[in-house]
Amino acid sequence: MEAYPIRPHHGLCLAFFRGKGYSEEFVENMTRMQKALEANAAVCLTEKTDGICAACPNNQDGVCATAKKVARYDREVLRHCGLHAGDTLPFRELEARVRETILLPGKREEICGDCQWSGLCR
Ligand code: SF4
Repeated sequence: MEAYPIRPHHGLCLAFFRGKGYSEEFVENMTRMQKALEANAAVCLTEKTDGICAACPNNQDGVCATAKKVARYDREVLRHCGLHAGDTLPFRELEARVRETILLPGKREEICGDCQWSGLCR
């Protein structure tokens, strides 16, 4: 099974993504990625830019324009979920860990409450 490289914090973004984002191209790509991942693809957790970043206007030659901030989101998601960069797992498992360790206990805003999209993720 092909494993998609995915930034850990994108497990949060994907839980709330409903067709809004940085640009039309970004939204189209994210919609495709969400569909592919929800078909229960495997993901390989990466702290570098991934297939979602690929169509993002903040992706500057493979580095996120807000690299420091998203690195913090990634670290916090890994820590809560008990996962590590380089782990490969079914997307549904990442989704379940994000739900159980972050969303249900109400910790999402502690992690990424300073994201510009935070208001959409309720
Ligand atoms: S803002 Fe940064 S981490 Fe988020 S999709 Fe864009 S390049 Fe990737």
